[in-house]
Amino acid sequence: MNVAETYVALALGLLDPCSLPPMVIFLYDNQQWCRDTRRLAIARALEDNGYHNVSKAMQVIYANENNEQYQKQYDNLINERIPAMERKKFNGKNVKISDKKGSTCCFNNQCMSLFRDDIIEHVAIEHLHITPNDLVSLGEYYCEECGTLTQLQLVRKGSKKQRKSYTIQRECGCGDDQRIELPWQQVSLSTVCDELREYKENQP
Ligand SMILES: [Zn+2]
Ligand SMILES: [Zn+2]
Repeated sequence: MNVAETYVALALGLLDPCSLPPMVIFLYDNQQWCRDTRRLAIARALEDNGYHNVSKAMQVIYANENNEQYQKQYDNLINERIPAMERKKFNGKNVKISDKKGSTCCFNNQCMSLFRDDIIEHVAIEHLHITPNDLVSLGEYYCEECGTLTQLQLVRKGSKKQRKSYTIQRECGCGDDQRIELPWQQVSLSTVCDELREYKENQP
């Protein structure tokens, strides 16, 4: 999933926010810095659009110069990233998240660090070729076992090996999980949609 599709999957409840790797926040010069600019942009867009529960559930790790695990990242930030940013006269408050590799169709024309206002409709129609309503209702699931309307969600859970791919689970906790046999970074939103459709069709 690219950055915009990840945002849409999170906003619609199709993806468990805890399944994303944690954002590492570094404390330096009385300020907080984060190199995970894509996840940061996603978190900001979620906040801006009222999905506070989702953004709050994204994992954050605070690290300082004494944290061995993040020592290299910290050094790189202080010695290379921040000086490079200052040379280019960037303030570090806005980041450009579109990149040359991907398409720029999902971003706001005026500000490339923001998604376009109609991002959910855009992804449904232009990326997935389905109606926005179909996309929104894709995760909705009536569970016969507990008799409630629940949500289907992608999670990374279980053993280290299992966490390399996504599992589809019901929020209510009933039923068997279904694994998507692909490395989780490679799973596109269109694959997610296909898998969810198949999940619903295969249930008794
Ligand atoms: Zn797009
Ligand atoms: Zn249930």
